[in-house]
Amino acid sequence: MKWVLATVRHETNTFSPLPTELCDFSRGTGIDAPLYGDAARAAIEGTNTPINGFLDVAKKAKAEIVVPIYGNAAPSGKVTDAAFDHMTEVICNAVGEGCDAVFLDLHGAMVSDSHDDAEGELLARVRAVQPDVPIAVALDFHTNPSDRMLDNMTTVAVYRTYPHIDMRETGTRAGQVMWRALKGEINPVIHWGRKPMLTHMLKQTPSMQPMKDIMDRAIQAEADGEVALASVLGGFPLADIPHVGVSAFVVTDGNDPAGPALVDELLGMAWDRRADFVYEIEPMAASIAHAKTLTEKPVVLADHGDNTGAGGNVDVMAALEEVMRQGLTNVVAGTFWDPITVAQMIDAGIGAEVTLQLGGRTDMPALNLKGKPLEVSGRVSAITDGVFTITGPMNTGSRADLGRTAVLDTGDIEIFVSEKRFEPIDAGMFAHAGIDPTQKDFVLVKSRQHFRAGFEDWAAHIVMVAGPGVCSSDYSLFPFKNLARPIYPLDEM
Ligand SMILES: [Zn+2]
Repeated sequence: MKWVLATVRHETNTFSPLPTELCDFSRGTGIDAPLYGDAARAAIEGTNTPINGFLDVAKKAKAEIVVPIYGNAAPSGKVTDAAFDHMTEVICNAVGEGCDAVFLDLHGAMVSDSHDDAEGELLARVRAVQPDVPIAVALDFHTNPSDRMLDNMTTVAVYRTYPHIDMRETGTRAGQVMWRALKGEINPVIHWGRKPMLTHMLKQTPSMQPMKDIMDRAIQAEADGEVALASVLGGFPLADIPHVGVSAFVVTDGNDPAGPALVDELLGMAWDRRADFVYEIEPMAASIAHAKTLTEKPVVLADHGDNTGAGGNVDVMAALEEVMRQGLTNVVAGTFWDPITVAQMIDAGIGAEVTLQLGGRTDMPALNLKGKPLEVSGRVSAITDGVFTITGPMNTGSRADLGRTAVLDTGDIEIFVSEKRFEPIDAGMFAHAGIDPTQKDFVLVKSRQHFRAGFEDWAAHIVMVAGPGVCSSDYSLFPFKNLARPIYPLDEM
């Protein structure tokens, strides 16, 4: 029995100014490229990733394991056709050599230059190679599903957490149903539906209402054996494509009416609560002023307008500028993406006093925003290679690689700058540069939800900061042209 396991994961913010190329599919690989074959297999061992969950099942099943590619890119703009075609071809070639099952670890919100529905295209190409070979898929909670995607899967499981701390478990859930199907114990049938809702990501997490009850119902239905697999999905709203919304996926044994009934129940709950998925934005200056009044420390400030995890360019300096203007002290801030400034600080050397034009190198034409650097002065206090192993609950065991990094100490603020964009999912980002964020009064990060995995446990307070950027929660700023309309809350429904 031969199984093909592969990862091609990207969440595409179609408003991002950063194109996504093959070299960007390098998260956790240690090189500026995806990993292939034995190197891919070695890199996934021990990690909290969906493909490692598949691997767990494959080992138990004593299957021969082939891992043609492991490619995972940080969220950014559309994937180039060259990158998409190459990664798809690598998987198709492996499947074409013959196998009994395919396990794909995909995101579900990938858009390429030529395909609004990149996962649908990828799955259709894989299925065309071996139409009778079953395909099991693990997907992100932020999937924007299409008919084409679902028509070309045999079974599917989706993350049920945000921050996504159940990645490996999701791969295992999808993998176990597939293994049972291969043994003839179950005939998986997928049921799904979607509601036209452009929710705010800050209101999506299944750890809180309004999503909690809905996800709990899905989890209970799966745990009780009512259905084989069940999930509700928040969707990824920063994508100007037709198939965006809140959806539900249920897998049953055979064409069981419990499947469509549960899909309707989950989506009915989501639709009834649609107003609760709307996030009310507080002006950035007011949020920072409020943070200043809090006496218990540390206070984590989360700038959610420009974060890596939703495709931001991570060099918008407005939130740091406001922190400086309001005179906050004992602050650590970062990471900011600015390879030029990192190089300048490394050239200057540790201990050097420098004045820098930090960040602001990227224009964001989709939102009519111009990049604006921030002048900062201070002492270069640390330089690192940007590599550490993630120990927190998200992506546990994976290799983090921020490129070279440097820290500028202004006296009041330690500013952390890196050559690569990085979502601050783990406090190791600061710790590996010798900074203990738990000893700071204020910790400014660029994140909306995933920072909670590594920061929420020890933060006395969390304050959301609505900085500008292509991840803004203010949907009135985005020139949506291709969404299926009407959609709530942009339109009267
Ligand atoms: Zn996600």
